[in-house]
Amino acid sequence: MQKEVILIKNGELALKGLNRGTFEDVLIKNLRWRLKPLGAFTFRKAQSTIYIEPQDADPDWDEVSERVEKVFGISAFSRAQVVEKELSAIQEAAATYLEKPLRRAKTFKVEAKRADKKFPLTSPQLCAQVGEYLLEKYPHLTVDVHDPELTVWVEIRDFAAYVHGPQQPGAGGMPVGTGGRAAVLLSGGIDSPVAAYMMAKRGIELMAVHFASPPYTSERAEMKVKSLLEQVGNYAGHTTMCIVPFTHIQEEIGKHCPEELFTLVMRRFMMRIASRLAEQNDCGALITGESVGQVASQTIGALQCTDAVATLPVFRPVIGMDKEEIIAIARRIGTFETSIQPYEDCCTVFTPRHPRTRPRVEELEKAEQQLPVEELIAEAIANVRTERF
Ligand code: ATP
Ligand code: MG
Repeated sequence: MQKEVILIKNGELALKGLNRGTFEDVLIKNLRWRLKPLGAFTFRKAQSTIYIEPQDADPDWDEVSERVEKVFGISAFSRAQVVEKELSAIQEAAATYLEKPLRRAKTFKVEAKRADKKFPLTSPQLCAQVGEYLLEKYPHLTVDVHDPELTVWVEIRDFAAYVHGPQQPGAGGMPVGTGGRAAVLLSGGIDSPVAAYMMAKRGIELMAVHFASPPYTSERAEMKVKSLLEQVGNYAGHTTMCIVPFTHIQEEIGKHCPEELFTLVMRRFMMRIASRLAEQNDCGALITGESVGQVASQTIGALQCTDAVATLPVFRPVIGMDKEEIIAIARRIGTFETSIQPYEDCCTVFTPRHPRTRPRVEELEKAEQQLPVEELIAEAIANVRTERF
């Protein structure tokens, strides 16, 4: 029975109002999908633990851990050795399975948990017996019950015993899919992928909407957005992306609207189109990467003007964050390097020299009267390309 498993223990994780069973079922579904390329696994839940057991001999455990680490809804997990429920087997397993950390540490302690109360030793007895064995095997060690460098865990459960070292932190949050769906307006910048990640963390399943203005924006700019979505997908799971042709709309704005309002009229078109695509795809909200004061189109007044045409709530998870804080998250989730590649976004194509920072909704409405708004929207939506990730 010398095999490894992953134990996911969300403990008494407060699932306020959320049915624990559903939460775990969605989590298992997401884990199953994420681990599929790495082999066959079985997923079992028992005693508020999810067990991931490999069906094949020896999966790539480092890769498995790396993927599990990115699945939302897990506060901590451990890789563990499965052992027979028999003292000498447990002692032996602890000494060999944790050999590396035991050699590296100077102090340690053993913690035991006994879910199976029929096991002949009590938890303190088990700790003492395993501890003594390890001290004999690794004489450089001393026991420190208060602040050990290494804690060796022994868990006696229904079908087997498990030996493992310290838990690894999980990604936290809620399993994607427990929080409904939302459409993220995804540019190639730094902020919107971070915003997408943050909402996925709250259990929201994502759809992406990207506005492209060929030939002003290139094929490579679009590739960049796709790779960003793939990187976010390591956390957010399945997504689809709607690529909206935006050239005609931008050209019409450029021809017929006052220059200082270009950006805001354009952003209102984005909101209108994204709202409709979101509604068509069962999404209950929009997500953007806006942060107050970052650029002229992100003042409170500008945000009022863009919100006025959105037909769904707009989530802006980075609204109160500094660029540095957003960048720190982008680096951590692996999107930063891609985001800073220098491909033009449609926003930078028709940039006014002196954008209005205190616009009024009436001014924008007036400017938009010069445009066939509904026709332009219908044309763009009719030509949307959808891709699955
Ligand atoms: P980002 O880093 O996300 O590009 P930004 O600081 O460059 O943000 P803006 O370019 O003003 O800010 O865009 C504000 C928000 O509008 C973005 O965070 C994104 O949600 C959305 N957005 C901008 N350009 C596009 C686009 N081409 N396609 C889809 N959404 C976009
Ligand atoms: Mg941008």
